[in-house]
Amino acid sequence: KQWVYRFGGGAAQGRAQDTALLGGKGANLAEMASLGLPVPPGMTITTEACLWYFSHGKCLPDEMKEQVLEALAEMERLTGRNFGAITKPLLLSVRSGARASMPGMMDTVLNLGLNDETVQALGHDAGDARFAWDSYRRFIQMYADVVMGLDHEVFEEILEDEKARLGHDYDTELSAVEWQHVVALYKQAIEEELGEAFPQDCHTQLWRAIAAVFSSWNNPRAVTYRTLHKIPQNWGTAVNVQAMVFGNLGSTSATGVAFTRNPSTGEKRLYGEFLVNAQGEDVVAGIRTPQSLTEEGRLASGSDKPSMEKLMPEAFAEFKAICEKLESHYGDMQDVEFTVERGKLWMLQTRAGKRTTRAAMKIAVDLVDEGVITEEQAICRIDPASLDQLLHPTIDPRVERVILGSGLPASPGAASGEIVFTAEDAVEAEAEGRKVVLVRIETSPEDIHGMHVAEAILTTRGGMTSHAAVVARGMGIPCVVGAGGLRVDLRNEVLIGPGFTLKRGELVTVDGSSGQLLKGEVPMVQPELSGDFGRLMAWADAARRMGVRTNADTPQDARAARSYGAEGIGLCRTEHMFFEGARIHVMREMILAENEAGRRAALDKLLPMQRSDFIELFTIMSGLPVTIRLLDPPLHEFLPKTQQEIEEVAAAMEMEPAQLSRRVEALHEFNPMLGHRGCRLAISYPEIAQMQARAIFEAAAAAAKETGAPVELEIMVPLVGLRSELDYVKACIDEVAADVSRETGLPIGYLAGTMIELPRAALRAHVIAETAEFFSFGTNDLTQTTFGISRDDAASFIPTYQRKGIIEQDPFISLDFDGVGELIGLAAERGRKTRADLKLGICGEHGGDPASIRFCEEVGLNYVSCSPFRVPIARLAAAQAAI
Ligand code: ADP
Ligand code: MG
Ligand code: MG
Repeated sequence: KQWVYRFGGGAAQGRAQDTALLGGKGANLAEMASLGLPVPPGMTITTEACLWYFSHGKCLPDEMKEQVLEALAEMERLTGRNFGAITKPLLLSVRSGARASMPGMMDTVLNLGLNDETVQALGHDAGDARFAWDSYRRFIQMYADVVMGLDHEVFEEILEDEKARLGHDYDTELSAVEWQHVVALYKQAIEEELGEAFPQDCHTQLWRAIAAVFSSWNNPRAVTYRTLHKIPQNWGTAVNVQAMVFGNLGSTSATGVAFTRNPSTGEKRLYGEFLVNAQGEDVVAGIRTPQSLTEEGRLASGSDKPSMEKLMPEAFAEFKAICEKLESHYGDMQDVEFTVERGKLWMLQTRAGKRTTRAAMKIAVDLVDEGVITEEQAICRIDPASLDQLLHPTIDPRVERVILGSGLPASPGAASGEIVFTAEDAVEAEAEGRKVVLVRIETSPEDIHGMHVAEAILTTRGGMTSHAAVVARGMGIPCVVGAGGLRVDLRNEVLIGPGFTLKRGELVTVDGSSGQLLKGEVPMVQPELSGDFGRLMAWADAARRMGVRTNADTPQDARAARSYGAEGIGLCRTEHMFFEGARIHVMREMILAENEAGRRAALDKLLPMQRSDFIELFTIMSGLPVTIRLLDPPLHEFLPKTQQEIEEVAAAMEMEPAQLSRRVEALHEFNPMLGHRGCRLAISYPEIAQMQARAIFEAAAAAAKETGAPVELEIMVPLVGLRSELDYVKACIDEVAADVSRETGLPIGYLAGTMIELPRAALRAHVIAETAEFFSFGTNDLTQTTFGISRDDAASFIPTYQRKGIIEQDPFISLDFDGVGELIGLAAERGRKTRADLKLGICGEHGGDPASIRFCEEVGLNYVSCSPFRVPIARLAAAQAAI
């Protein structure tokens, strides 16, 4: 079995598409090597080896070890160096690399192969003993942390003490001898803390490092990250063992990271940062503030430190050309890592760069214009769920800004909240319903849970590629990093700026688009949905088959949905109209009336209110289909609850409060969701359905007269399980239609249909379709009734189910394809057998969920309907499902 894939010297055994086996990093290193780019030679140990490792009590397959040694011999040949040798020693990096990128979540060890002897050889070779000892102490520190499980703080303390003792401010001031002494102290600390010596045998170092990187797949922060990002826990990671190149070999050496386009705006400009005389993670960690790659970038940031373009023109030119080559090869914006060793450029990583949704839009549209990708590819490049980032508010340009400080605009959008200084405080405040801005010196993967609940993030250190910046962009949270004029005083829980001190709990606003921190809570405006967004959505609209409607109960909802591109209303819940203002009183009178005459009197008062609502709705939706659902909820939802409410209603109805209380009690239900609701109400009290039908028809006539376009009316009867239920209610509606038509002298057209939200209705779809002209899958209730799980009570145990692995996803959020999905498929098929032109739609929460939308496409529904702000998501997801 092939456990190891080699790359380097202009060739590779793997390719970019082998990410499942080689991980993203390994597959792309292979691709770059075979493109002839300067990649230090190395090998990738497969994810299969990782799975083997976990299923065999954490030991490495012998066959794999043999293959590693063979590949190592090849690396020695290509580099002219030897692993563990005391002349020209070969050093290695041992790098994790999973199928999906998990930035900073797993471990990497650099400079492996150093020991007390090879360190001398390395210094001799390079003519730089200081460099060798610096590399050795880095190695010990990383190895002890990653492999031996010793916290890096131990080493930081030692180094701080040494610097203080020697009177140095910066690491760069330490001499070779001083580093040598630090190394001795490090090794001593390891023995003291662990009772075990730092291993001098290079092969031992290698095997243990490989095993540790495999193990890092299951470290807690990686597990959390995968849960958050829905990455399967059973993929495993690959390990890349690669020859080291050195960015810490003096002033002609450097290490850096870059995006081939601006990851925040999408602008087509090389965008990146580097550090001279530095190694590995110095850039990402935000330990020193890095320098710009380009002159343009330097000018924009107002820095006086020279750019790479200026400092290393040759390496920069080569780098720039490689970036262009990579971008056109992959057809996408790339995020790359590189190192310059004494003027010679080496590429260490490339992958599709993480970007904001706004940038993703711009890049996709630009790449179409550049002829690199097709419109369909562009559509598929955007994650539909990420579109809600674009719907983020920004600061109202008319308000005056009180600027407290500024940094780099790391992730766009603006948000306000109270200052908190730790992830724990953020989580706690959020749980209490307070909005927070997380303020840190810099963030690390341990802060993830706090970042997740924050409205915005601010750091005082770090660059555009720092942890905070990358994570915030991924989460769509506004973020400002490197706000150097501000200082966090953690002990006193204050943020200090020029002339002011902000305490924990004070309100601030972070503007991730301008990089500013503003005082107080600032008014926001909604974003514009034109430009790149408009073009891409137009392509999506052309590519999709299904219609996209909205669930809207109010004129505001309807207007918002139309501005987001809704093509009609798939669900108008009429009961919401009865909760507003004074209407609830009339509604209560109607429900509590003791006879039909009493009910009719109250209904007569409700009719004009309902009619005027519908006129407004129909006018907004002029010419588009509107599905109106008759009254659905259990009556008890409308009942007066407090004694005061009972007295008010009693007074209005000229009844004794005690008598009213008895009536309220009589209406009490043990299981209201399975009780007197839905079409059952219309059957008990047909006058309710008749009033609603009259309001609908009269409004339709009025709106048609006003707009000149007829309303495409669909009346939906809820909670039907029997065809006879639907027949009965439809007969009531038809009667009213005939009356209204006679009164207005106009013909009335409408479709009568039902929600499919009971398993019985799904099973009997072929019979129900004899009456119904459309079905709308009410997947909230259908999920509830199929599982027999009350959706109002599910929250108390669904999370436990998820934690224990009983179910993966909450079925009320992501459609249960296996069970509820089968019922939908079956109902669609049976219904259409009876009535070939049966209109099919979905109106549950799932109508706005991309995975569920894909399912709807497969089943062949005519449209999906979702809440207004999810309409753009549904349009895009429907297009992707159709492509
Ligand atoms: P991550 O997945 O966290 O980015 P990497 O495996 O990319 O981890 O390693 C982190 C950093 O270590 C890289 O950005 C690079 O600077 C440095 N590094 C990795 N491999 C090498 C190498 N062969 N030579 C020099 N530096 C390396
Ligand atoms: Mg990396
Ligand atoms: Mg329902």
